[in-house]
Amino acid sequence: MAKDLTLELKFRDPARARALADAMQRNLDAIGREVSVMHVCGSHEQAIARFGLRAVLPPQLRLIMGPGCPVCVTDGPEVDEAVALAQGGAHVCTYGDMLRLPGTSRSLADAQADGARVHVVYSVAQAVDVARAHPADEVVFMASGFETTAVATAAVALGELPANFSILSVHKYVPAAMEVVSRSKASAIEGFLAAGHAAIITGHALFEPFAARTGAPVVVAGFEPLDILAAIVKLTDLIREGRPEVFNAYPRCVSREGNLPAQQVLWKVFQPRAGTWRGIGEVPDGNLDLRPEWAHLDARRRLEPDVSGVRDDAAAGLERDCLCGPIMLGLAAPHDCPLFGRACVPEAPVGACMVSSEGTCRIWHTYGGAPDLRRVEGRAAGRG
Ligand code: SF4
Repeated sequence: MAKDLTLELKFRDPARARALADAMQRNLDAIGREVSVMHVCGSHEQAIARFGLRAVLPPQLRLIMGPGCPVCVTDGPEVDEAVALAQGGAHVCTYGDMLRLPGTSRSLADAQADGARVHVVYSVAQAVDVARAHPADEVVFMASGFETTAVATAAVALGELPANFSILSVHKYVPAAMEVVSRSKASAIEGFLAAGHAAIITGHALFEPFAARTGAPVVVAGFEPLDILAAIVKLTDLIREGRPEVFNAYPRCVSREGNLPAQQVLWKVFQPRAGTWRGIGEVPDGNLDLRPEWAHLDARRRLEPDVSGVRDDAAAGLERDCLCGPIMLGLAAPHDCPLFGRACVPEAPVGACMVSSEGTCRIWHTYGGAPDLRRVEGRAAGRG
């Protein structure tokens, strides 16, 4: 039988986890007040929820998932553009969790049910295959995801493509959203865990100006339970010592400079612009658009989606009660939403955070129904 290298490397060792939890507790005792820290990654939240890591955190430590799910922050009007293109006759290809994401009135799944040609793909290359299979039709790839995923889109854009293929970019740039969250006095975030996989591309030096400007330390974290706990210990070290620095707690994968060829590919094809993130609002430099030299690949410029028959800002219905925005800003938790697990479930999501497997509500629903952190915190407080 093959060896389980994960166990061999002891990334899930209970004794080490307890030691890290004790180190965290010592830091919080020294700080002497409640501290809020945020991670911005659905994969981190999946690991935190799946392994029950909040159960060992000090009760004074709030660990919040911020805007770390690219599906959740894709704005309704962006979905409208894809729906309009699909209803207008184009083939629209996108990742599976974008299918049921609500626009202002309809989702791509709704359009598909009415006969629009919507394809679920696992990669941008597969969308190119769809274009080659339908040379007489326009084929649009709705490109979602953060900067890591945008690199894959950019790499394909630089290759040879069929003339009927274009890209509707709804890619987002996470560091820009961290700036917005860090300015929110209400959420009072004192430090950030940065996603290790994104930092593999960007490098951890990217966060140095951010930490210096905002006064919030940043620790780059991997995805095993002990990676995350060790990163939180380091983050609370830096907060306790008042050092707004960047620390790389994922050195086996992340370097200071990151993947320079990947960065070149990314910025050759995309440029940042201000855009609206669902639930967050305006994020300066938060959206990644195709550069003007790639206008022939840009579905917005080439096909000019007409959303007039799709967009309906008054049609939000139940979604008006959705707390995704406050949840992503660290101002609420899924169990604060009256719809959580009742009117809003993964099979019938009301808000974006329940649609994707990287959304906070979906993750909490999957790994424990309605986790009551106050109860968990109470248990942790009673720990010997
Ligand atoms: Fe929005 Fe549903 Fe989460 Fe409530 S449970 S905040 S409606 S996604």
